[in-house]
Formats: sequence, structure tokens, C-alpha cells
Amino acid sequence: MSVDPQGSVAELQGIGPKLQETLGRLGIFRLLDLLIHLPARYQDRSKVTPLAALRAGDDCLVDGEVIGSKVTFGRSRGLEVIINDGQRDLRLRFFHFNKSQQRAFEAGKYVRAFGTAAFIGRHLAMAHPEYQIFDDPPPPPKPELIPVYPTTQGLGQARLRNLTRALQSLEWPSQPGTPFEKLLYLHRPDDFGAIEQTRESLALDELCAYYVVMKRRALKRRKQQATSLPQKSGLGRGLRDNLAFKLTQAQTRVIRETLEDLGKETPMLRLIQGDVGSGKTIVAAFAAIRAIEHGCQTAVMAPTELLAEQHHLNFQQWLEPLGIRVGLLTGQMSAKAQRETLASIANGELQVVIGTHALFQEKVAFDQLALVIIDEQHRFGVHQRMTLQNKGAFPHQLVMTATPIPRTLTMTLYADMDVSVIDELPKGRQPITTHTAAQPNRPELIMRLRDVLAQGQQAYWVCTLIEPSDEIDALAAEEAFELLRSELPDFEVALLHGRMKGEEKVEIMRAFKAGEYQLLVATTVVEVGVDVPNATHMFIENAERLGLAQLHQLRGRVGRGHLASRCFLLFKPGVSQAGQHRLNALRESQDGFYLAEQDLKLRGPGDILGIRQSGEQSFKIADLDEDAHLMPKVVKRSENLMQASKGSAEHAYLNGLLNTWASADTEHLSV
Ligand code: ADP
Ligand code: MG
Repeated sequence: MSVDPQGSVAELQGIGPKLQETLGRLGIFRLLDLLIHLPARYQDRSKVTPLAALRAGDDCLVDGEVIGSKVTFGRSRGLEVIINDGQRDLRLRFFHFNKSQQRAFEAGKYVRAFGTAAFIGRHLAMAHPEYQIFDDPPPPPKPELIPVYPTTQGLGQARLRNLTRALQSLEWPSQPGTPFEKLLYLHRPDDFGAIEQTRESLALDELCAYYVVMKRRALKRRKQQATSLPQKSGLGRGLRDNLAFKLTQAQTRVIRETLEDLGKETPMLRLIQGDVGSGKTIVAAFAAIRAIEHGCQTAVMAPTELLAEQHHLNFQQWLEPLGIRVGLLTGQMSAKAQRETLASIANGELQVVIGTHALFQEKVAFDQLALVIIDEQHRFGVHQRMTLQNKGAFPHQLVMTATPIPRTLTMTLYADMDVSVIDELPKGRQPITTHTAAQPNRPELIMRLRDVLAQGQQAYWVCTLIEPSDEIDALAAEEAFELLRSELPDFEVALLHGRMKGEEKVEIMRAFKAGEYQLLVATTVVEVGVDVPNATHMFIENAERLGLAQLHQLRGRVGRGHLASRCFLLFKPGVSQAGQHRLNALRESQDGFYLAEQDLKLRGPGDILGIRQSGEQSFKIADLDEDAHLMPKVVKRSENLMQASKGSAEHAYLNGLLNTWASADTEHLSV
């Protein structure tokens, strides 16, 4: 009878409570978890290295006859065994050993050892090798690649290898599609070439399972009941007529797509992609209005206090003239203010609530939540999105991102969402001219800045550090602030960084927006979303230290009004090739999608999507960088599998796939 992959690892022989606890620290609870705990690399033990060819640092398999052994009393007591293979001596050293071990190294016996060679004094030695003792010269080694596992304290490689060896002798379910055989192979491969092939085939399996689950989730969503929010009283027209600008065609199209979704009785899950400055926020406001027309509430999530505050101001400005009540909830508010806000969220008095992570708290209860809007979604994990979603029956969700995600990735990673793209910038936007400048040219730039400020325009000066650091040679915000304040005595200069209190940050931002400061010296806290149309100049210190996407975001803080804008990328002389490449790409293009492609070449999607930082990626085998090229195959194969008729081989395959991968990751892949 075959084993149940979901069964406890304790079913394996020799696993007691202590070992079980240690395995738990590696996330290994079930047999399946152990099977999916794959080697990080392999050691080649198929060849014996002659001692004369041994070099320090090599991991090698060696043979030799025992010449002698002795207990040494240096800094610590140790056992030293000298072996010789007819050409050269090697010392094997052990610091933990017992009498019987010592006795076993009898002169004239043969030892086969595996370990890392190192010089100890003038002698080549191996400390704590794995070894076997033979009476006669050992036979040629078996061609075997020995797995090396990620592990934790108190769990050695030998122990882990024994455990995964035990997996080999179990009888695994053998429906088609269950990738057990491939997984077992990766624990005991016999050919380096086949390892990558097998890994890639498993990655494909895993991504397909993920895709199918996302698609099924979308189907399931279509069966859920949401509050239908069809066109009603024309409140939206009121907003449009009051706007200081005319919507772009792209905005109009995306608003229409969104409002159509809202009119349905199934919950919307729509992703709006739009480059920095394309005007996503107003789309959110139109969606919120639709909910309000129906007496329902909207929650708007922002990843930072600054952004939440800014959205609050914008929504107030847009919606309060229409008699709509907009509130703000952040973790930085006083307990009293929080309590009051919570009360007016609960009784429905606040129709739109903007907030940060604070909106996730359990104590936040809505009266009639029908719409959840998430801005800069790549900053949040999937899990957090779900928590907020649970606050309404099945609220509609609108998710916005400025990260240009390559289409193939969108199709797989966001297979459960509908996607709208704002592919047009508002008219009258002046292009941003980008310059690069070596830091020694800073005095000239400051002179230029003086002229700009004298004309009534505003500027940002962004630094990568808050305070000077011994390790990193970069101009810190605090230094830049002092420097610029003394160089520009006729202007008001403010300093803003992430270590300041929330209220302080918000007040500085408000004052900058109101024109009370002309220059804002800041760290990259101004990266996301900050919108001050009168700011036309952006100076970025040590731009060589930042990634393309981040630089593009920062640059997007200017060029938001009618005046020509400029961005200066200051770099430290001696930039690396890659750094130069990034700065040039930025100088040449203002197109977020083009830059994303360049970035993809330089860094890979994991970094661009912020998946790595947010810990959102939970693929066991697949790697978004390495396996990005598989995506078209993933879509094609999964779509075929989903079409397969019940009882067919493909259908069985699909089920096998889902059974394994879906249960391997409950958070991501729960169907
Ligand atoms: P993002 O897409 O980066 O979030 P925002 O929503 O912050 O962009 O919009 C950037 C700026 O452009 C804001 O000042 C906003 O009021 C303004 N804006 C939005 N749509 C238009 C438009 N159609 N015409 C002119 N300005 C617009
Ligand atoms: Mg925005």
C-alpha cells in the first residue's frame, strides 16, 4: 500500500520527538515536506583524488593506508590520523572522538574519507571528514552525487541524508502528474546534467499548479455574491465636472472598465497598471463614489503614512464638495483619535477611509464595506490583501501598481485578476530631461537650483542615507541638508526621512506641498506616490546605489505640472559598468515599461516585483528569475489541462499536480 504524503514524518523510522521538533524548524512536518526539502547542491564523490593532487579548499574523496595515529594536546585535545596513498601523507583531524573510534584507526587499515582539505601549518589536513574504514584497499567508489541540504542547528547532513534515503524506499502514490518520482530523483541523482532538467520540469509543474489554482480562484469568485453597484445618481458626473483637469482617454477607459465590474453581482478583482504620474488615484476616486452612491463604504490602503496622508488630502478635495465624508486611519494617530475614527468607521459615518497597515487591525470593523482599493500593491503581501478582504462580505477589490510587470508574468502571477492598463500620460505634461553629473559638479548644480527656486519652482534633493556612515561613502541627507541650507540662505529648506515621527513627516509634506518650503531634502521615503506638481527639479545623490525601478519612481516625483522638469543623477566617480548602464538607460528613456525590461535584464523579476522583499514568493521549486522563460509554456499547458475531459489522462495528471502542490503550500495554493 502506498504512503500518504500528508502523513507525519514521525512515521519514518528513527524519528523521535526531539528530531521531529528540529525538523519542524525547517518547516518539515509531513512526509511531503521532507520530500520537497531539496538539496541546495551536490558533492561529487564519484572519483578518488590522489593525495598529491589535493589542494587546500577542495572538497574531495581520498583513500589512504593508516600510517599512525596519536592524541594531540595543543590548544585543544584532538585525534590525528596520518594516512598515505603511496605518494603523499594526509592528516585527518578529529576533535570529538571516543576510544573505539581511536582504536579503529589501526596501522595497516585503509581509510576512505570525504572532506575539505586545508593547511594546518605546513601539513595538508582534513578536519572532521566523513570516513569509512576498510581492511583491504577500498573498491572504486560508486558513481554518486551526494546531496547537501539546507539545514538548521542540531541536524547534520548525514542525518538528513539518512532521512531522505528512507523516503526512497517508501511506496509513493503513482497517479500520473504526481511529481514524486522527480522529487525522489533530486535527492539521489546520478548525473549532473539530469538534475537541472528535472528541476526545471518540476518548476513547470509547480507554476502550472499555481496558475490553475489562481484561475480556479477567479472562477470561484465569479460564484460569490457581492453588492452590485450599478450606475445610480450621477455623483460621478459631479466629480468629473469639478475636476481641474480633463481625464485622459486611458483614464476614461479604465474608469469605465472598473465601473462595469462594480455593476456586477460578483466581486471585482481588477489590477490597474499605470506608469508613475499616469493618474491612477482619480480612477480610485470614481470607484469609491460608486460605492457611496449605494450607501456603502470604501477602504483605501496605502503602503506609507505619507502616501495615506496625501490620498486623504486628495480625496477630501475631490469628494467633500460632494458632501462625502473622508477619514484617515494610521498607526501614528493618538489613541483617542484612533478610537473616534474607529467609531465612525463602525457606524458608517465615514464613507471613505484611507489608511496604512493600521486598516488591517482586527478592531477595525466597517458598517457596509463594499470596495477595497489597494495602492502600490507590490508593497503588500498576498496575505494582507486577504485579511482586509475578509472585513466585508465579498467586497470588490481594486488594486493599483506603478510597477510595469511584463505581460507574461502578469498572466501567471496575477492569473486570478483582470488587468487594466493606463498607457497614456496626462496632456500638457512636460517631458523630464534627465542629466547625469559627477559629484564634484555639485556646486554648479546648486547654482542652477538657486535660479530655479528664485522663479518660484520647488525641488527635491534625495539622498540614499540619513546620516553619514563609515562603511558607505555617500552624501547623507543630514549633511546635504546642512550644506544646502547654508548655500541657499534665501530659501526655506526642509529635511524629511524615515526615522522622523509620522506626524512630523506629514506636517513637512503638507508645508512643502503648500509652498512653505522651496526645497525638500529627503531620503527615498518620497519614492512612492508623493505628488507636488509645482516641484520641477529632482536631484538624486549617489544614484549609482539605486536600482532602475527606484530611480524611475523617484524621477516621477517631478514632471507633474505644466513646467518643464529636470532630473539630475549625481554619481560618485568610478561607477561600475552596471551602474553606468542604469544611469544611461534612465537618461535615454522615460518609459516605465522599457526601463522595466532593462531592469529585468539586469536584475530579474523577483526584485522588480518586490516579491523577494515582501516574502510573497513561496514557490518551492520555481524561481521567478530563472524560470521566467517558462511562463508561456505554463499558460499553454495549464489551459490545456483545464480543458481536459474528466477521466482522461490529462485530467488525472492535473489532479495529481494539484494534490501535490496545492497541499505543499496552503497559503498560496488553497483551492
Ligand atoms: P499615479 O498614477 O502615479 O498614482 P497620480 O494619481 O498621483 O499618479 O496623479 C499624478 C498627478 O496628475 C496628480 O497631481 C493628479 O491630480 C494629476 N492628474 C491626474 N489625471 C490627470 C489628467 N487627466 N490631467 C492632468 N493632470 C492629471
Ligand atoms: Mg500613485
